[in-house]
Amino acid sequence: MILIDGKKEAADLRSKLKAEVIGLKKKFNKVPGLTVILIGNFAPSQIYVRNKEKSANEVGLKSEVIKYPENVEENIILKKIEDLNKDQNVSGILVQLPLPKHIDKKKIIEAISPQKDVDGFHPISVGNLASGYEASIPCTPLGCYLLIKKIEPNLSGKKAVVVGRSNLNGKPMTQLLLKENCTVTITHSKTKDLKSECLKGDIIIAAVGIPKLIKGDWVKKGTIVIDVGINKTDQGIVGDVDYDEVSKVAKALTPVPGGVGPMTIACLLKNTIDCFKRSN
Ligand code: NAD
Repeated sequence: MILIDGKKEAADLRSKLKAEVIGLKKKFNKVPGLTVILIGNFAPSQIYVRNKEKSANEVGLKSEVIKYPENVEENIILKKIEDLNKDQNVSGILVQLPLPKHIDKKKIIEAISPQKDVDGFHPISVGNLASGYEASIPCTPLGCYLLIKKIEPNLSGKKAVVVGRSNLNGKPMTQLLLKENCTVTITHSKTKDLKSECLKGDIIIAAVGIPKLIKGDWVKKGTIVIDVGINKTDQGIVGDVDYDEVSKVAKALTPVPGGVGPMTIACLLKNTIDCFKRSN
């Protein structure tokens, strides 16, 4: 079984991006800039944002974090986004989720210029991806896609089963696999007999949030299994895939932690650089 080393793949991607930033600096005399807006004191968000900033600096991007208190008014954030949309030094804008309840997530996402939408959540980015046009692609599914392609460069005709249909993971993952000519089954909480659906997959992507949902006898021999799940349990952080069981049958499997997670931030940096390239 191939244990997919997300840490190594993410480090390889970061060093490619670092070299690319050096080239862009020579050509344009400036570097791509990522601005993150962080609202409130939610501890996991603080950690994510710190990691994003650290990684952005590592590859040579200009990075900025703008912090607001939990009770900041929505208008202030919308005005800041409007200014950042116009700022030539800002290539990518990310508003860290989740947002406080009084702030309308949809309004915020739609306020970000699609040209600077490094999360790929704007409806125009979503539409472009679905239409097969160039688009910012949500970072986690993009990371999964790059990991899958590393194991199997030609996905044409493969059967892929996506477990979970969130806007963040399942839906964009489905679009990426369709673009690669996979036959894709999307499954979710109302799917009847998830086991038999999973057994049809040459590739399974699990993005659910239920610890060890995908069992060894749900996976046929030789399947590529990508585990997006991050679940806190008494045994520590585990994925949506029963690692001990599935590793006995899969062709390749991502561990949790150290699989998809590290790729997510690396893909955010890639999206920032791609936004810069598109706007120059
Ligand atoms: P979500 O809650 O938005 O969506 C979960 C999806 O799972 C839904 O579409 C739901 O229909 C489906 N589902 C629920 N119960 C099911 C069941 N019994 N059988 C089949 N499908 C079922 O979650 P999300 O934001 O997509 O995140 C999913 C997981 O991925 C979480 O554990 C989250 O922490 C993790 N995650 C990881 C990363 C990363 O970088 N590795 C990034 C984002 C999210």
